[in-house]
Parts: sequence; C-alpha cells; structure tokens
Amino acid sequence: MGDTVKEMKKALFYTKKSAYELEGEQGIEAAYKFARGYSDFIGIAKTEREAVTAGVAILEAHGFRPYSLGMGVSAGDKLYYNNRGKSLLAFVIGKEPLERGIRISAAHVDSPRLDLKQHTVYENTGFGYLKTHYYGGIRKYQWATIPLALHGVVVKADGTSVDVVIGEDDGDPVFCITDLLPHLSKDQSQRTLDAAFTGEGLNILIGSRPYSTDEDPYETSSPDERVKLAILKYFNDKYGITESDLVSAELSAVPAGKPRDIGLDRAMIGAYGHDDRVCAYPILMAVAELEAPEKTAMCIFADKEEIGSDGVTGMQSRVLADIIAELSRALGADEHVVRANSLCLSADVAAGFDPNYPEVYEVKNSAICGCGVVLTKFTGSRGKSGTNDASAETVGKVRRIFDADGVVWQTAELGKVDQGGGGTVAKFIANHNIETIDLGVPVLSMHAPFEIISKVDLYEAYRAHVAFNK
Ligand code: MN
Ligand code: MN
Repeated sequence: MGDTVKEMKKALFYTKKSAYELEGEQGIEAAYKFARGYSDFIGIAKTEREAVTAGVAILEAHGFRPYSLGMGVSAGDKLYYNNRGKSLLAFVIGKEPLERGIRISAAHVDSPRLDLKQHTVYENTGFGYLKTHYYGGIRKYQWATIPLALHGVVVKADGTSVDVVIGEDDGDPVFCITDLLPHLSKDQSQRTLDAAFTGEGLNILIGSRPYSTDEDPYETSSPDERVKLAILKYFNDKYGITESDLVSAELSAVPAGKPRDIGLDRAMIGAYGHDDRVCAYPILMAVAELEAPEKTAMCIFADKEEIGSDGVTGMQSRVLADIIAELSRALGADEHVVRANSLCLSADVAAGFDPNYPEVYEVKNSAICGCGVVLTKFTGSRGKSGTNDASAETVGKVRRIFDADGVVWQTAELGKVDQGGGGTVAKFIANHNIETIDLGVPVLSMHAPFEIISKVDLYEAYRAHVAFNK
C-alpha cells in the first residue's frame, strides 16, 4: 500500500464495481448470449410443472437419466429425480468420496399467480368468469387490465390427465380482470392500494357469447347460464373435461406473452416469473454442463416457496434428505457426514435498488442492477427473524470461490431495516445441517406480472454456480 490518500483509499476501501466494466465487451456479449437461452426457458416455463418439464428436457439433452430411490450410482453418473412433476433434483456424482460433501444449489420454480378455485366457472350479467385464489405475495391491483393466460393440468374422472395452455400462441385468446373507469372510481380511489382490490374481486373474464340454441331462451325467467354452458362446452370439446373434473385440476392464470428485452441497449429482460427462474436456469445449466467433476454437484428446482415451502414438493419435504441418504448408502458413505460437509447456495432473487423508490432502500446495503450476482448473508424481517443468517466462515468460503474465478458479485440485504422482509428456502436446507447462504439476481418490480432483471447479473449468477461446482 502506498501512503498517498488515493493509494490508501484504493487499498482499504470497498468499492462496488459494475459488471459491465469488469466483464468488458466480450463478457457482455457472452452475457447477452446466455440470456437468449434463459429467455427461451422462461417463455415456456411459467409454472413449476412447466419449469420441471423444460428442465428435464435440458438435462436429457445433456445426457442425464432418471434416478429412482434405491438405485445404484457411481462416479460420473448424471441423474435427475423428477418429484411428481413439480420439483426436480439433478445431480452429477463426483470422483471425490461423497463424505467430502455435496455442492448443492437450490432455486424455486413457482411464482406468484392467480390459481383457479375448484368451483371456478360462473356467469353474471352476460359474462362468463373464473373465480380465483391468489398464490403467493401479489399486489392485487397489478393483476387487473393485463392479458392473462391459463396454464395447468386437469385430472379427469378416469384418472387420465390433460395439460392446458391457452393464451400464449399469437392466435390464442387471452383473459382479463377488469378495473373501474376513472369516471366512476371515486370510492375505490380513496381506498389504500391494499384494499382497493380484494381477493374475491379477482375474477377473470373468460367469455360472453351464449351457447346458441333453437330453444326459446325467454320462455323461463330463471338465469339460463348459456354463457357458462358455452365455456364448458369449449373445454369439453377441446380437452374432454366437465365442470366436475375441474375439482381435480391445478389451473393458474399467469401473465400472457413472451419475455422482452428492455431498453435500447437490450441490457435487461422484462418477463413474468424471474423470481425465481432467473436463478433456476443458471443453477441448472451449471450442473447440466458438468462432466466428471471432482465434487458431487446437485441442483434443486423447489416448488411452493412462495407459499411457505410446505408439502411434498416444497423445500421442507424430506426429499432432499432422503436422496442424500440413498446416495450415501449406494456409495458407502455416512449420510450425516455427507450433510455436515455439504455446502449450499440458496439461489433466490434479491430486491434490486430502484431509483424511483429510494425511500425503501438503504443504498449502501442494496443490490444494484448491473453490479453482479448478490450474496445475501441473511434475509428475514424485524431483527433478522426467520433466517438462517449464514456464518462469517460460510461467507468467507463462498467469496474465496467467487474471487478465484473472477465472478462479479456484491452483497446486499432486502431493503431498509423494518421496512418489510422476506425469506427463501435457505433455512430449510440449513436445518438439515447443511451450510447454506443465499445468492441471487437482483430484480426490479419483484412479484409483479412483469419483473425486470439485468442480463449481466444473470450471467454472473451462472458464472458463480460454475465456480461453485468446480
Ligand atoms: Mn424467490
Ligand atoms: Mn418471491
């Protein structure tokens, strides 16, 4: 260190650096290229099921085979476990003894949306509607007056199932929740943002043409529900389903349309569901591309993070521990030792600092879009409640891994203390005695129907996971 102020500052101060500066033209070009693959992925993966299907296709193209519990494995094997079509664990068995630990990366592939209720179709004053029950933390007002598509699965009475996607092809119709005109919104405008729209008010317009009939519709005064009939007839013609089958269905309304580049420089991507597919895609690619690694590497697509990670496909399920136990048994390792020596990156998005709303951020500890992937020591709310709060040693271990590979990374927390809070799957993995820390891509408008990320940050996430799996 020199003794001029300039030299001393350079040596002693931390300076957040831009990924554009550190990557240079070539790196930025590589980031844009990686982003094209990502945009293709999220364009078709709008639900956890679709993300798992798209993930399996990528894995199989990279030589991965299905794994079943109890199966024998050996070094170099590339395997995936499809957990009921809604969560996915992919792993490559390393050359090192398994007891040296597994490198785990975990993202979630569910996103906030509007699920259809089980009794969903109804008619009112000439319009056909779908009743919804929102999934995850949405700001309800954002979901009105935007084109919506329907995605999901219906299990029929005979046990067969049919996939539904309506609203994504150019020729498809889309659906919509209406809002008031400004001329009649005096009362609504006086309510808070939270109260202006209600959960029961998020009814989706799905049709308005009554089923044509020669019967005299006016011979009875009771509502004849011919719009509802026409809707159910459409579903029956196209999918062979009846209203009863919708009881055993998981249908979701999600924003219709493809991801789009944002800005004249095309440096950002606007899309539905960056949270958390913008982390799911890089962790998948970083594992898919592995060939005969030293360490065993695993990536996880978890379901249900947005609603608490419960259930068989959520991160609180036993499936991760069971698979580690099974792999340990197959390779003659002690599962407890394997878990104790494993390291996990919980790959979930960070809140990108938004200059339009500086009042909710503390800028020194905020994630800046374009400054790389975000290492988050703790999440939680109100005095770090509900977080695993990774140790200094874990942060130290991970930063050495990134620095050795020249990954552009920054560290941040969500926003101002006591302004809100959030959580990830990190604590559920850490509870298995697996050292875990959060790492993710900064997002603007998180949980909105159209979220925004920077391509260079996505690319640094990928580079971070490549470094992690080495
Ligand atoms: Mn998330
Ligand atoms: Mn989220």
